[in-house]
Amino acid sequence: MVRLSKFFECQKCGECCKGYGGAFVSDHDLTRISQYLDITPERFLSDYCDWSGGRPLIKTEESGCCIFWDELCTIHKVKPRMCKIWPFIDSIIVDTSNWAVIKSMCPGIRDNGNLDDLVKCVRSVLSEYDKA
Ligand code: SF4
Ligand code: SF4
Repeated sequence: MVRLSKFFECQKCGECCKGYGGAFVSDHDLTRISQYLDITPERFLSDYCDWSGGRPLIKTEESGCCIFWDELCTIHKVKPRMCKIWPFIDSIIVDTSNWAVIKSMCPGIRDNGNLDDLVKCVRSVLSEYDKA
């Protein structure tokens, strides 16, 4: 088993909540976040989301920060899948050059391993998430 810490250790800087690409919301996320906020999924989509490529993503403030960022994630318990698995996102499996893009905005990325091991890490994180 390849250790995740070989590739990443979060520095808790919050940069990933400050506007890079936005946080996409899956159907599962939509249900959980709406329940947590005690509003309907329709209201969550209309009031808290923008759309990109036909998919909802959480709105950002003018500053670029996610609307749920307030020095920490205010919906941490139910934050979207994308935020939970970050930075080991699916698109790295599709194209490992995406790791360099993530590295350019996340100071927690470590360059200690080869790309085959990185893909193993991503698969492991996604598998753990899907089991939970
Ligand atoms: S940008 Fe990277 S290091 Fe900073 S909080 Fe997000 S995941 Fe952690
Ligand atoms: S939902 Fe939470 S973890 Fe995700 S971008 Fe917004 S503040 Fe950050």
